[in-house]
Amino acid sequence: MRILVIEDEKRIADFIARGLEGSGYTVEVAENGTAALARIHDIDYDLIILDLMLPDIDGLTVLQKVRNRKVSPPVLILSARGTLDDRVQGLELGADDYLVKPFAFVELQARVRALLRRGQPLAERLQVGDLSLDCIRRKVARGDEVIDLAPKEFSILEYLMRNKGRPLSRTMIVEHVWEMDYDGLTNIVDVYIRHLRSKIDEGRPQKLIHTVRGVGYMVDAAEKPAAASTEPSRTDV
Ligand code: CA
Repeated sequence: MRILVIEDEKRIADFIARGLEGSGYTVEVAENGTAALARIHDIDYDLIILDLMLPDIDGLTVLQKVRNRKVSPPVLILSARGTLDDRVQGLELGADDYLVKPFAFVELQARVRALLRRGQPLAERLQVGDLSLDCIRRKVARGDEVIDLAPKEFSILEYLMRNKGRPLSRTMIVEHVWEMDYDGLTNIVDVYIRHLRSKIDEGRPQKLIHTVRGVGYMVDAAEKPAAASTEPSRTDV
């Protein structure tokens, strides 16, 4: 899945690109309308994320030009202009969805997923060991046992499972799950991880949520090295 982010504010563009790449999408960024239109001319994107306030061409003009093309991908408008008029105008001009800044990454991710899912009814399901997470129905289970999670707990677990085997820092987790300007509150991640552990891992022989010293947290079901010692050894003859 190839996504074009049209956004002139580098910090926001990076935030979106990093997050979506972490979710497995290929992301390209265009810093203005002219560059964006050139790319759209050459490449068939699966989704366009469009900021309305661009330095050269108005975002709505970019939208009109996209809609005039034969192959026209879904467009998600991203804007600080959140009045009803702006939304209506954007949707009337053919945008598929509208998200007002500032936003939490999970909200963007949910909309991106919904727009990309149109026309392809595949349910998204993540699995690590016997832990399964259904992104559509928002259900979590270990084996047959369903586990109830609060929304933020669910979002953190989904993010960790999507990056199975890869440690994620507290800052990454905060940026992903809370609003992007949520600074200096990385300790809250520890609190949520504690809740998740008590629900997901407590009382179970296989722990799936791991602390990675100096980095953050990781979900993984890799075999413990100790398991190797149960294999018959050729040296003790
Ligand atoms: Ca802008």
